[in-house]
Amino acid sequence: MSQVAERPDSTRGPAPDGAPYDGLRLRAVTKTFGGFTAVDTLDLDVPRGSFFALLGPSGCGKTTTLRMVAGLETPTSGTITLAGQDITYAKPYRRPVNTVFQSYALFPHLDIYENVAFGLKRRKASDVDSQVRDMLELVELTSQVRKKPAQLSGGQQQRVALARALINHPEVLLLDEPLGALDLKLRRSMQIELKRIQTEVGLTFIHVTHDQEEAMTMADTVAVMNAGVIEQMGAPADLYENPRSTFVANFLGQSNLIPGAVTSRSADVVSVDMQGVGVSIPPARSHTDGDRGWVGIRPEKVLIGAPGEELDAPGNTIPGGVVTDVSFVGVSTQYLVRMPWGQELQVFQQNTGRHRLFHVGEQVELSWRPEYAFLLDISQDALAGAQKGDDE
Ligand code: ATP
Repeated sequence: MSQVAERPDSTRGPAPDGAPYDGLRLRAVTKTFGGFTAVDTLDLDVPRGSFFALLGPSGCGKTTTLRMVAGLETPTSGTITLAGQDITYAKPYRRPVNTVFQSYALFPHLDIYENVAFGLKRRKASDVDSQVRDMLELVELTSQVRKKPAQLSGGQQQRVALARALINHPEVLLLDEPLGALDLKLRRSMQIELKRIQTEVGLTFIHVTHDQEEAMTMADTVAVMNAGVIEQMGAPADLYENPRSTFVANFLGQSNLIPGAVTSRSADVVSVDMQGVGVSIPPARSHTDGDRGWVGIRPEKVLIGAPGEELDAPGNTIPGGVVTDVSFVGVSTQYLVRMPWGQELQVFQQNTGRHRLFHVGEQVELSWRPEYAFLLDISQDALAGAQKGDDE
């Protein structure tokens, strides 16, 4: 394996006491276009060497944020620093930042080698050949060097674009929906490939995407953006398991959100009357102080059984359901179950072969472990973030 722009591990992680933050830092960054606020008082710390994803629906301000980091837009207010240096108003070419776009933007008349070598040759760098070869090895295109971009597949062209950006050894590589033009299968394999390359070169990658699966697959940290602000930021599993808003609960996967009234709170448990059924929620997963809240539970955390059947999740059992829809999707069976209060809940049951299938019209009970439930602010829209198409 080639070793490109490798840094010793001691240069990663938090800066020593007193030293400036060594990652990328945005403070109170706002961008308005006329009267419209595209990015609103954004604070963001991207640790050096991390794979960071900005995830959100179309129009939430992801690209504008990225363009301000690249220097292609000027913030209306706020500051951007990189390794302690204020780059808010620095010219794009003066920033140690490179961008890879969805459109690849390769030179069509140059072959792959020359496309990758272009920046180095222009800067009259020495050892161009060895750097280009290292880079082509990194992106596994050594056998394609003399082809023109049009002779490569979309995924290969994207890897050329990546090599061309990485060869400049930027501190930060910005990826703006880089896999958006690829079909699903190729996109999945490129996600793994990109992650491998990032781990190998150890640079900071900031990846903009509206595809939640893509963000979760690749990034160490995901920031979920909505209407110009960051709703929640964290490791993919933390965001998914413990969403703090209805938007995150719906945008990152799917959630059942059921209205309930808080009956008591203690250090160990928040008790909620959920449509006449007592359910409990760990305080660390309760994100509202109100008397009422949305009880949230992911469909795959819900167990389904015949009335009175022993389900192996003691805790919150909700009787009185009727199956209204059954979809067999191979790895799982997805049920819609109408509850006594009229709401339909989703249940995803893995097809392990250990459970029998239920049919439309059958009476069922649902159950989940209290540690999987979460409680959200009732004033938030239960459908926020839910209506998203794949091509959005
Ligand atoms: P997408 O995934 O569709 O690219 P996004 O989250 O990247 O969306 P942005 O491109 O950052 O969103 O745009 C945020 C908002 O700012 C949008 O409503 C957009 O119309 C608006 N906007 C972006 N650039 C300009 C501009 N130059 N002039 C006016 N409005 C703009």
